[in-house]
Amino acid sequence: MIAIEKNKSIKKYTTFGVPVLTKYFAQFSDLEELKSVLSDKKLMKEELLILGGGSNLLFTKNFEGLVLKNNIKGISIEEENDSEVLIRSGAGENWHDFVMYCVDNDFAGVENLSLIPGNVGASPMQNIGAYGVEIKDVFHSLEAIEIKTGKLRIFNKEECNFGYRESVFKNSQKNEFIITSVVFKLYKTPTFNVSYGAIGSELKKMKVENITIKAISDAVINIRQRKLPDPKKIGNAGSFFKNPVISAEQFEDLKLRFPQMSYYKLPSGEMKIAAGWLIDYLGWKGTRKGDYGVHKNQALVLVNYGESEGKDIYDLSSLIMKSVLKNFQITLEREVNIF
Ligand code: FAD
Ligand code: NAP
Repeated sequence: MIAIEKNKSIKKYTTFGVPVLTKYFAQFSDLEELKSVLSDKKLMKEELLILGGGSNLLFTKNFEGLVLKNNIKGISIEEENDSEVLIRSGAGENWHDFVMYCVDNDFAGVENLSLIPGNVGASPMQNIGAYGVEIKDVFHSLEAIEIKTGKLRIFNKEECNFGYRESVFKNSQKNEFIITSVVFKLYKTPTFNVSYGAIGSELKKMKVENITIKAISDAVINIRQRKLPDPKKIGNAGSFFKNPVISAEQFEDLKLRFPQMSYYKLPSGEMKIAAGWLIDYLGWKGTRKGDYGVHKNQALVLVNYGESEGKDIYDLSSLIMKSVLKNFQITLEREVNIF
């Protein structure tokens, strides 16, 4: 049986780094250890939270249940041919380490997703995305344990129902499965995605003449290191809000009032508005109250400069949402998981 710790501080296991105690805490490194916890009937009466790298969470109070940290490791090639490779990664592998494994082996598909914090097991949760690529573009399948029965289930891409920062695991099957490994389909002949302007200009700055998987990864790493706060230095969980999607009619009206607004047309005809622009326009960027605030370079990122409480950061997010609603008639949605 694995060790069950009581009344444990899990501050250091989250990138926001706010103070939080959990009633019970345990870590598992393989399926046997996970199953032994799931078979403990008394423990299973507690509320359960699966923890990866803790980079998409905000605790607003102590957690009155069991936090289970997933440490399942291992990266292996399942199948390959001349053009494609299927790679399985344990859910507890660090996402960026997995990306570096692919880049080092010249397997294309995840290079635009370099330097995203967190673990592989959480990547399907919100279909992580950046710079024009989402994991649904390279996702093959995943294995998960059903919490209620302890049985292993395989999900293919359709069954995950991926959307913009969404999947079944955040919606209809929320809290029902523990993802234990993910299989990705990567390519030996790359199709580069440099549709995001910042990547093109960074490659120019780097004086790259022949684009490679490694060059794109390096470009993304450079941009991210310049623009985003490093959670090791300033607590944060990346974008606090999703970019809102609005109808073409609402967009036309807003565009007349705010001609400088930053937006992107979606294939559906709807418009994606850059939430960061809305927040910045209202003057929130760089604002600070005590030890928390809105990051100075990125209005979507709320930060903990040291000793702030999760509740303070949550309340700040509510104030921002209210002001966006009042001024733009747009309801922002939080991307970060709140507990
Ligand atoms: P955690 O925060 O530990 O968990 C997140 C949620 O998933 C929780 O509800 C948890 O219970 C659940 N969960 C975790 N693992 C499992 C599992 N194995 N089985 C079932 N449920 C599980 N996100 C992007 O999409 N794109 C970005 O570009 C991006 N950039 C970021 C930059 C910074 C600086 C930071 C701090 C965050 C960024 N994020 C980004 C958000 C975050 O990194 C991702 O959402 C990441 O996938 C979270 O992984 P994690 O392991 O830390 O998940
Ligand atoms: P950015 O490049 O300043 O762009 C601002 C917003 O405009 C982004 O949110 C992006 O939407 C959208 N955008 C920009 N170029 C686009 C294009 N060519 N087509 C469609 N949409 C476009 O954004 P940033 O904040 O520096 O982030 C860069 C990338 O990293 C983005 O993809 C962002 O999602 C990702 N990121 C995510 C998190 C997170 O926690 N979720 C944190 C940091 C960065 P999308 O967000 O839909 O791509």
